[in-house]
Amino acid sequence: IGSASASTVRQVKLDRESELRIEVSNETPLRLRVLNGNAEIFGTELPPEIWLSFPPRLKFAVFTWYGATIEMDGTTETEYTADETPMVSYVNVHAVLEGRRNHAKASASKGSDTSQVQGPRVIVVGPTDSGKSTLSRMLLSWAAKQGWKPTYVDLDIGQGSITVPGSIAATPIELPIDSIEGIPLEMALVYFFGHTTPSNNLDLYKVLVKELAQMLEKQFTGNAESRAAGMVINTMGWIEGVGYELILHAIDTFNANVVLVLGQEKLFSMLRDVLKNKPNVDVVKLQKSGGVVSRNAKVRQKARSYRIREYFYGLTNDFSPHANVANISDLHVYRIGGGPQAPRSALPIGADPVANPLRLVPVNVDQDLLHLLLAVSYAKEPDEIISSNVAGFIYITDVDTRRKTVTYLGPSAGILPSKYLILGTLTWLET
Ligand code: ATP
Repeated sequence: IGSASASTVRQVKLDRESELRIEVSNETPLRLRVLNGNAEIFGTELPPEIWLSFPPRLKFAVFTWYGATIEMDGTTETEYTADETPMVSYVNVHAVLEGRRNHAKASASKGSDTSQVQGPRVIVVGPTDSGKSTLSRMLLSWAAKQGWKPTYVDLDIGQGSITVPGSIAATPIELPIDSIEGIPLEMALVYFFGHTTPSNNLDLYKVLVKELAQMLEKQFTGNAESRAAGMVINTMGWIEGVGYELILHAIDTFNANVVLVLGQEKLFSMLRDVLKNKPNVDVVKLQKSGGVVSRNAKVRQKARSYRIREYFYGLTNDFSPHANVANISDLHVYRIGGGPQAPRSALPIGADPVANPLRLVPVNVDQDLLHLLLAVSYAKEPDEIISSNVAGFIYITDVDTRRKTVTYLGPSAGILPSKYLILGTLTWLET
C-alpha cells in the first residue's frame, strides 16, 4: 500500500463502507470523479460524473456507504483503499446529535426555556493527528445536508481551518463543506491571538475563548434555528498539563454537552472522571481513523505558511491581493502582553515585576514589522482591542521611513476598517 502513481487515467472500484485514501502530489493537482455509485469526502457527497480538481498536497479519503467506482487522472504521493474505517461509529454519533437537534427544535416551538431548546454542543478532543478537524467536518456536513445550520468553532491556533493560524474563529455551516475549498470564511467571527501556541500568553488565549463564546451566545439569543442546530468545537492537539486545563476551560466556557475523545484512552478516562458530576455532559470515546496523516513539526510549519499564503492568494492563486499604501501616522499597532519589564530594583518593595499579560503595548511601525502578520481590529478605541473581533489580516511589505508610509498586502483594496492593528509573533516569508 501507499505507492505513488503514474499519471494515467485509472479506475478504482470501492466496496461498500470502504474508502480510497489519497495524498495529492506536491506539484500537480489531481483530477477525480465518481463514475458510478455514491461517494463522499469527509461527509460531503461528490457530484456524479463531474471531474473535480484537487490541489497539490491535499490529503483526503473518498468514502462510499454502498459502493462506487472512482476515476482519477494525475499523480499522487499515496493512494490506497481501506475497508477498515471508523465511519459507522462516526455516523452513529451523527444520528444521536440529529435526535437532539430535533428535540431542541420541537421544544423551541413550544416555548421552552434555553436549556430545553439548546441543540448539541459537541467538542472534539484528542492528541495531534487523531483526525479532530476531519471528524468535525463530517459532523457539520452531515448536519448541513439535513438542513441544519450548525456553528463550527475552531480553537486550534496551530493550524486553523477557518482562517490564518494564530486565530480562533467560528462560522455557521449552511451547506455541506466544499471538499476542495474547505470551511467558508465570509461569515466567520475571528479573534486574533497572534501566536501558534497558547503558552505564549495563556491568559489572553482564555480571554479570547471567552469572548468568542459570549459573542456566539448573544447571536443564539433570538436565533432558535442556530441554537437548535448546536455547535461543533474543534480543539488543539495539546492534551497534557496546561493543554488539558485548556480543554476543561473550553468545555466549561462553551457549555459543551457532548465530548468526543478521539484515539486516546487516558484522556477519555480523565475527562469521564472529572465530568462525572455533570450528568448533562456525555463523554464518548471514538476510534481514530487509520487514514489520518501524521505531520511533524516541519510539515506543520510549512502548512501554516501555505495557509497564510492561501488567505492572500487563494487556494489556486485565484485571488489577487492588493498592495496598498498608508501613512505610518494613520496606523496604531499594538502587541498584547509582555513589553519592557521594570527591573525588580526599580519597583516598590513587594510589587510584582511580572508584566500584565493583557496589557496593550504600542509598537513602532518600522522595518521590524516586515514579515509579521497584523490583524485589523474592529475596535473603535484602544481599550476595546482585546474584546473585539478582527476584520482580517494584512502583511507589511515595505516601510518607507523617508516618506513615512508603509506598503501592505491585504485581501482587498481600500481603506482599513480600523486604524488599530494587532501584532503577535506570527511570521510569514512570502515565497
Ligand atoms: P491536529 O493535530 O492539527 O489537531 P487533527 O487531529 O485535527 O490534527 P486532521 O487535520 O483531521 O487531524 O487530519 C490530519 C490529516 O489527515 C489531514 O490532512 C486530513 O485531511 C487527513 N485525513 C484524515 N482522515 C483521513 C482519511 N481517512 N484518509 C486520508 N486522509 C485523512
